[in-house]
Amino acid sequence: MSLERTFAIVKPDAVAARQAGEILAMIEKAGFRILSLRMTRLTEPQAKGFYAVHCEKPFFPGLVKFMTEGPIIVMALEREDAIRKWRETMGATNPANAAEGTIRKRFATSIERNSVHGSDAPETAETELRFFFSTADLLG
Ligand code: UDP
Ligand code: MG
Repeated sequence: MSLERTFAIVKPDAVAARQAGEILAMIEKAGFRILSLRMTRLTEPQAKGFYAVHCEKPFFPGLVKFMTEGPIIVMALEREDAIRKWRETMGATNPANAAEGTIRKRFATSIERNSVHGSDAPETAETELRFFFSTADLLG
């Protein structure tokens, strides 16, 4: 399989808890190359836009509040089968269901405050990468 790229976020809970370094180490140990990385802070319109697919869900207002509460780290990650492998490295959305050794098992404190984000398909990966990064950023 050829190299693929995906989009990742270290969410505000993990940045505030100073877990970003350990999460980045887990990402590199899982075989990803960090193509691009920056710390930023989402505005409310940005958070609503990024999570627009969930706008009708009951958890949407809480999610937007959470994602805007503090700085996040956005990343472009590259490896073979990157989208699936990053989802696997993150673990299940609800940390109660996350497998041993995953980021969410280790750091997430609830189904909402779950430490990391990862794209779920090739189309969403490209849309999400473009939400934050330019072509030049993604040269690696
Ligand atoms: N979320 C939540 N309550 C839920 C489901 C999801 O607060 O019942 C939040 C959580 O932060 C999650 C994000 O909304 O990561 C996006 O949900 P999704 O189902 O896409 O999960 P993910 O793709 O992040 O595993
Ligand atoms: Mg999702």
